[in-house]
Amino acid sequence: MKPVKCACCDHFFIPRANNREKQKYCNAPACQNERNRIKNQTYRTKKENDFTFKHFEAQRQQRIRDRRKELNGKREARRSSTLNAFCKTFISMKISSKFHIVDKSALIMNFIDHTIIY
Ligand SMILES: [Zn+2]
Repeated sequence: MKPVKCACCDHFFIPRANNREKQKYCNAPACQNERNRIKNQTYRTKKENDFTFKHFEAQRQQRIRDRRKELNGKREARRSSTLNAFCKTFISMKISSKFHIVDKSALIMNFIDHTIIY
């Protein structure tokens, strides 16, 4: 198979057998990033005056933002509930006075660091 010169890094590479006529970029991550950048730019330029597309795209982006905000809220609630559960445990431990804990804040931070909250 004939080697082809990459359009980005100018190195020669062997194109994949199923794509040997069209492949212009090698497999290097930098070249693939460049290829995707150009592809996205071309796509955006093509869709620049398509107002229907822009409208639905804006709606889609808003849905993604809303969903992300909702998930962050749930994550925050879960985190605070974990902390509450810990505080209850801590208070019950304190009441039963089986353990003597000197530094409360260090214990709380240690608990947060070692608990998987996500
Ligand atoms: Zn390349």
